[in-house]
Amino acid sequence: MGSDLKVHHLDCATMCPVATGGHEVVAHVLAIETPSAGIVLVDTGIGDSARRNPRQWLGKPFVSTLRPDCSIRGSALSQLKALGLAPEDVQHILVTHLDLDHAGALADFPNATVHVHSHELTAALQPSLREKSRYRSIQWGHGPKWRTYETTGEAWFGFDAVHNLEGLSEDILAVPLPGHTRGHTAIAVNGPDGWLLHCGDAYFDASTVNSAFGPAPAMIRRFEQVVAVDRRKVAANHGRLKELIRNHGEQVTAFSAHDKRELDHFRSLGS
Ligand SMILES: [Zn+2]
Repeated sequence: MGSDLKVHHLDCATMCPVATGGHEVVAHVLAIETPSAGIVLVDTGIGDSARRNPRQWLGKPFVSTLRPDCSIRGSALSQLKALGLAPEDVQHILVTHLDLDHAGALADFPNATVHVHSHELTAALQPSLREKSRYRSIQWGHGPKWRTYETTGEAWFGFDAVHNLEGLSEDILAVPLPGHTRGHTAIAVNGPDGWLLHCGDAYFDASTVNSAFGPAPAMIRRFEQVVAVDRRKVAANHGRLKELIRNHGEQVTAFSAHDKRELDHFRSLGS
């Protein structure tokens, strides 16, 4: 059964990565209007600061290889304003992980509580040599109000350790899916038309988990392997998401942070 949450689907960084041969990808962000917890964001995109100084905010390698659109229309801040929503009403941010294209706008909402898996925060604050390029400490230089979680919880549509988030109703749940990063977590939202599952970077291209989208482009699959901290877990997550879509596709609509077709689908529905 659906809830009374109002869910907006935003694109907070259209990118045209060299690695995908110019295949456009997005940064799919949710802005959720709740009855008692203000506005909740799921992921944030690259942020308003990327516009002012993209190389400093995102790092030169990211800017040259992912080629993000840093114009004002891309930021969560400007898109919320365009929807008539007040940025200061953003009380909670749920990050699937802290890669620079997901955590880039934390500083645009400095009063929000940022909910994140404890392993992810540890990785971001004390990255290994291999992890250093994916996290940008400048993006949390303002000192966010972190709220961390461990992998404990209950079963939910075939997933383990699914849990509530402090200050939020049971219509918004965290679904730990490590593999892409140490503490990567999907976010489930019980919207007006049933459950949505924001899978973050648990997969990049819809074809990876849903054969209706055709075969996955080889370059995207390769990129996914290269950036994963644990490829075995990434493969296991793909399997579980395929099962979810096959067995519960009527009740749960899964989408990744970066597939443009999935975002376009929601936008075509007017959300
Ligand atoms: Zn990403």
